[in-house]
Amino acid sequence: MEKSLSPLWLQVWVEAGREGRIFTYRAPADLELAAGDLVTLRLRGRPQIGLVVETLAEPPADLDPAVIQPVEGLHQAAAVDPRWQALLQEVARHCHTSLFRTLKTALPPGWLGQRSGRSQGQRPRHQLWLELVENPPGSPPLTSRQQQLHERLRTCPGSAAPQGTITAWGFSRSLLQAMAAKGWLRSSQRLPAGGHGGHGGSSTAALEPPRALNPEQQQALGGILSASGHQEFLLWGVTGAGKTEVYLQAAAACLASGRSALLLTPEIGLIPQLLDRCRARFGERILEFHSGLSERARIAAWRRCLQADSDTALIAVGTRSAVFLPLARLGLVVLDEEHDSSYKQDSPMPCYHAREVARLRCRDAGAALVLGSATPSLETWLACRRLDQPARLLRLSRRISGQEAAPVRVVDLRQELAEGHRRLISRPLMERIERLQERGEQAVVLVPRRGYSSFLSCRSCGEVVECPHCDVALTVHRLRDGSQTLRCHWCGHRQALTSRCGSCGSTAFKPFGAGTQRVMEQLEQELSGLRLLRFDRDSTRGRDGHRRLLARFEAGEADVLVGTQMLAKGMDLPRVTLAAVLAADGLLHRPDLRASEHCLQLLLQLAGRAGRGERPGEVIVQTYLPDHPVIQHLIDGRYDAFLEAELQLRRQAGLVPFSRACLLRLAGPSGAATATATAALAEQLRPRVEQAGWQLIGPAPAVVARVAGRYRWQLLLHGPAGADLPLPPEAELRAGLSRGVSLSIDPDPIEL
Ligand code: ADP
Ligand code: ZN
Ligand code: ZN
Repeated sequence: MEKSLSPLWLQVWVEAGREGRIFTYRAPADLELAAGDLVTLRLRGRPQIGLVVETLAEPPADLDPAVIQPVEGLHQAAAVDPRWQALLQEVARHCHTSLFRTLKTALPPGWLGQRSGRSQGQRPRHQLWLELVENPPGSPPLTSRQQQLHERLRTCPGSAAPQGTITAWGFSRSLLQAMAAKGWLRSSQRLPAGGHGGHGGSSTAALEPPRALNPEQQQALGGILSASGHQEFLLWGVTGAGKTEVYLQAAAACLASGRSALLLTPEIGLIPQLLDRCRARFGERILEFHSGLSERARIAAWRRCLQADSDTALIAVGTRSAVFLPLARLGLVVLDEEHDSSYKQDSPMPCYHAREVARLRCRDAGAALVLGSATPSLETWLACRRLDQPARLLRLSRRISGQEAAPVRVVDLRQELAEGHRRLISRPLMERIERLQERGEQAVVLVPRRGYSSFLSCRSCGEVVECPHCDVALTVHRLRDGSQTLRCHWCGHRQALTSRCGSCGSTAFKPFGAGTQRVMEQLEQELSGLRLLRFDRDSTRGRDGHRRLLARFEAGEADVLVGTQMLAKGMDLPRVTLAAVLAADGLLHRPDLRASEHCLQLLLQLAGRAGRGERPGEVIVQTYLPDHPVIQHLIDGRYDAFLEAELQLRRQAGLVPFSRACLLRLAGPSGAATATATAALAEQLRPRVEQAGWQLIGPAPAVVARVAGRYRWQLLLHGPAGADLPLPPEAELRAGLSRGVSLSIDPDPIEL
């Protein structure tokens, strides 16, 4: 097409307040722009990146061309194509939010909307880092809240952290400004670590050949490859049955036909292992995308997707957010550990589920969707019985190693107690751990919480030491120098271990529950010479933190790995013959619709860590409730029997997925104002909700009623499965809220 010489007029979507608005801009003569381009511009003098939605030959009649501003430059050509935008429109509808916010979430950070004043042009923006200044001149005093930030930053590497991280801890920008003004903080231009390929040499190294598949794997692969057009599969195989090998070979076939594939994993901690396997097989065709990458690396990954053609089809490996990558000619999407709730975004909006987004993408692209798990979610299992386009079930029933599933032994803690043993670690478990070293074996021990012990309570009055900003107990953590401190897992608040009870003045405290650190301490005391490593969020910080710790364990640096939930996921350690759970009860008692399902999934995953090598494994579960159905299903190892029983229960009670739920979460700095706003919203919605045959439950305070100083209330809507939400548009819902009160709409929430 011939380039028009007259100035071109553009309709550009920019961020105005919370939402997007379309304004007319002029295209400079030297820039050829089209719908789908991202452009830099100014709105009311402030720099922004906007999305060109339409080009016009004439300016709109109601505008004086002389006052129309030009855009400043091209940020990214062809960033948004119509098909991808249509997909996002569908996601926005599902999530009951605007297309603009959904676009902002799906695009790389900083690509759409307001930008900070200093950044410019096409250079990717780096996060502002704030660094502590020790003893600034005059050392002006800090308020107690500023003191908290000071303490917190001091424990960070280099006494510095990105501003975004600091505000996520619950410290306000005005507090940061005040501290900077006093000279306690300075900004540093440091580049965030990571964000490079960094694994080197794969272009020259020979690629690893695929393995010869066993008959079950062959059948599964054959099933996936025989799909013409969109088809959904549930690949259900015990851990170690060779699911990943099937994914890799399906992805290879996809590449060979010039199409791209997307492999998703729920946890950032599982990325390194999967990447290693993919790089060995596919070399440079691999693209990595997850929140552990720097902004710059995420942007580079995006650009690579936009530039890919059929000769350079890609295999993208990532976490939840990678589901939005603009991969053209998508042939396959795999969700490994599809039951994992990390695939669901709870906040901010859009509260999407990666499985749903993947399903939409695969339908649109005519691609295969493979949902893999050893313990599929009830929803996916039901999808195999759908009348309309049912998912196909592919099963892998045996481990590659030929090992049977490790037998489960339950230790009844009531009996231990009756016999006078009140230790965290029961006698049978202790005996088993004692023998590890002489046999050259290893164990993983799951402690459902991180930290030293769960919380502290006063021995005299029973008062629990709580976070000043949240309605949760503080957790005791032990520092390297042996001293102890209290921490809040919800907002990041830290304080010194209280020496006197705030309510009665007593100095005697009693720790309750047992965190990873306390378990380690007890094991060390009772078994001298036992070597331990801790695996939780505190010990695996930083890029590659997981991988380094696991490598040390695999190299035999320790006999026992003590860790939280993370421990159960996906690792393949041949010398581990024992997997133990210290207190299964904490997992069984959660007030959640899916508590049983999630607990059994976790325990089975953990059990799958034992006996993956040559030697048989064993699982030991300590509990006060040995007769609980979840424990019984764990012992018999028949997850399908559990699903069948759970299905009946939910069907009879009309619970999800035999009905639909939606959670409206409100939060604000004042408890009373938030409660009032929630009640007003309930009254506004009730007639409409009830007329649609739905129920409105609440207002009720959230399970944790206050986090980081914000009071949280909620409304629950409950209605027929598959029905549309009986809600007015989001903007209308928001319009009636009082100032400072936020609202988030979570359709199909995971935790209920
Ligand atoms: P899953 O993903 O189901 O846990 P993996 O694919 O990780 O299982 O397989 C478990 C182990 O068996 C891995 O070390 C893998 O390399 C190996 N493996 C998988 N399939 C085969 C095969 N067909 N032949 C030999 N080894 C295999
Ligand atoms: Zn807190
Ligand atoms: Zn007290």
